[in-house]
Formats: sequence, structure tokens, C-alpha cells
Amino acid sequence: ASHGSLIYPEIVFVVVGDLYVGKTSLINRFCKDNFDRDYKATIGVDFEIERFEISGIPYNLQIWDTAGQEKFKCIASAYYRGAEVIITVFDLADIQTLDHTKQWLEDALRENEPDSSFIFLVGTKKDLSDAVCERTELDAIRFANEMQAEYWSVSAKTGENVKEFFSRVAALAFEQS
Ligand code: GDP
Ligand code: MG
Repeated sequence: ASHGSLIYPEIVFVVVGDLYVGKTSLINRFCKDNFDRDYKATIGVDFEIERFEISGIPYNLQIWDTAGQEKFKCIASAYYRGAEVIITVFDLADIQTLDHTKQWLEDALRENEPDSSFIFLVGTKKDLSDAVCERTELDAIRFANEMQAEYWSVSAKTGENVKEFFSRVAALAFEQS
């Protein structure tokens, strides 16, 4: 029987980027609407499933959170496979983490068919605006264009742009599916 199925269609996201840039916080703000100022390192990979409605149709968003450490890279790469959306995260107040997104993205793309994933570049910790250098954002926008990625800046702390960002991601992935 096909009616009454509790299995919703799924959209798979993977979130990559350096340690400490705010990947877990971004996911927690979206899925649990909370923010933790204490740091708890993600070990290996973790995931959240969030029910989401797009045009009235329920979806499960399967969000894979990776550790961002060299020693876990081989574990994480197994989870990149089949990702419909790759969310590459950097810290707006730390330009080095932006430089590293190129490598994170290449690693994630390598595990997928060409042009099979939507790519997002996300600058986090927007609330620390004093520490954000204008050039960092210009560089980010340029890199996003190069990669045919969409650029967003968000704050998990204040929640700024977080809902809007995930809605956009889900809507794009939905259109495609
Ligand atoms: P991850 O290693 O990429 O998963 O990073 P976490 O999400 O664990 O965050 C690392 C640290 O940055 C934690 O202490 C967070 O509280 C802090 N953090 C994360 N997002 C934000 C943000 O939007 N604003 C500020 N001010 N701090 C943040
Ligand atoms: Mg984490």
C-alpha cells in the first residue's frame, strides 16, 4: 500500500569546513533554535534530520555535520557521496578558513557526479561584525562565483539569516528533485 506512508522524501545536505567555524552551531540554530557558546568538538560525523515543508509537501532534511579535522577527513568523505547540497562554511572573522574552503569543496565534489550537487558558501559569525574585514566578504563572493555557488552570511548566535538560508537551500534542492 502506498498511501499513508510515513517515509518522507529526503534531501541530503553535507556541511563542511574548518574546525571551529560554526558548522554545528549553524545546524543547531536551524534544527533546535538554540545556541551554545561553549565549544563541543564534533567527532567524526554527526547528523540531524529535520522535517521541513516545501510547497506543502513534507520532506526530511538529512543534514550531515562533519568534524573539520584532518584526522577525520577520510571518514567524512564517505558521507559526501550522494550529497544533493554541499554547504561549505567559513568564519567571517578568520580569512584563513575561507582560504581552506577551496580544499573542502574539492574533497566533497570529488565524491559526487559532476554538477549533481548544489553548492553554498556560508560565512558565519556575522554578529562579530567588528572583526569582519570587508575584503573577506569580497573574496568570498568572488570565490562563490567561481564555483557557481551561492554566497550567504549568517549568525548562529543571533539567528540572522539562518532560517532564510535553509529555506533557500531546501527550495533549490526540491526544484531539482
Ligand atoms: P564547528 O567546529 O565548525 O562545528 O564549530 P562550532 O559550531 O562548534 O562553533 C565553534 C565556536 O564558535 C563555539 O564556541 C560557538 O559558540 C562559536 N560560534 C559558532 N557560531 C557563532 C556565531 O554565529 N557567532 C558567534 N559569536 N560565535 C559563534
Ligand atoms: Mg562541529
